[in-house]
Amino acid sequence: MSNFVGCHGPSCHKSHTQDRIRGVKGSKVLRTKKVTLPRPEYINMYSYFCSQGCYNDFANKHVREVIAIAPRTEALETPIEVTKEQVQYGWREGTYTNTRIKTVDTNGG
Ligand SMILES: [Zn+2]
Repeated sequence: MSNFVGCHGPSCHKSHTQDRIRGVKGSKVLRTKKVTLPRPEYINMYSYFCSQGCYNDFANKHVREVIAIAPRTEALETPIEVTKEQVQYGWREGTYTNTRIKTVDTNGG
């Protein structure tokens, strides 16, 4: 059971490719490409587009509406602990300083 939708790229139907040509002689059109939706658990934002270009066109056209779904007015932060350690080179004498960043669990777990 296939589930088809039209590519959501706003200009998909304007690309001059043979696989978009539909209709009979005298009334031909360029039509958006069909895309097959995967099983629901595998659907992601690329599932609705025939190409990366069509996805980019859609995202650039509708970015304000998409951001309005979950606007970010403040930066997010992740608590961390930073430690420095000296690490021996694997291929020569000497050490270098490695910065280790560890996420701090603030949920008491
Ligand atoms: Zn497309």
